[in-house]
Amino acid sequence: MNPSILDRMKVVQGDITKMEVDAVVNAANTSLLGGGGVDGAIHRAAGPELLAECKTVGGCPTGEARITKGYNLPAKYVIHTVGPVYGGRPQDSTLLASCYQNSLQLAADHKVETIAFPAVSCGVYGYPIEDACRIAVDTTARFLEDHPSIEKVNFVQFSEENRQVYEDYLKQIS
Ligand code: ADP
Repeated sequence: MNPSILDRMKVVQGDITKMEVDAVVNAANTSLLGGGGVDGAIHRAAGPELLAECKTVGGCPTGEARITKGYNLPAKYVIHTVGPVYGGRPQDSTLLASCYQNSLQLAADHKVETIAFPAVSCGVYGYPIEDACRIAVDTTARFLEDHPSIEKVNFVQFSEENRQVYEDYLKQIS
């Protein structure tokens, strides 16, 4: 992998709501009306205005992404994407890759330079972290090659195990 692309991807362990980036990505559900996990944490930290804006968006199909303001978050924007519920089907990986691709495209369209992703679909939606990590990193790396305006993509992991999976994969492809 081109070292200049690798330098623009970083693994962080922590809470995505604290990230000082231009945009944080939310692992939302199709209603965009809030939920548990990272979605609940982002809505709590952003405040009720986020839900009010989400109500005007009209939902989001699986694999797509929508952008709102970040309100009380340090981030200027929240990019809401809906990952697949893992079922071991061939379309799961295509849909998960689309989440990263579409989120990054919205980011580029809004002149976002720094962005943070959670492990989309890897909580309640049950996607195995090793497979999801490869899809996240490979899709992001391809996007960064064509989009020099995006300076840094942070993959924010809540758990030490998931952080290690990302570190190992980035090392493997370097
Ligand atoms: P999904 O429904 O897409 O599976 P979840 O929110 O259940 O989404 O989980 C996605 C990932 O986000 C999981 O790995 C979970 O541990 C992680 N996560 C939950 N809260 C946070 C947070 N505040 N910051 C970063 N990651 C988080």
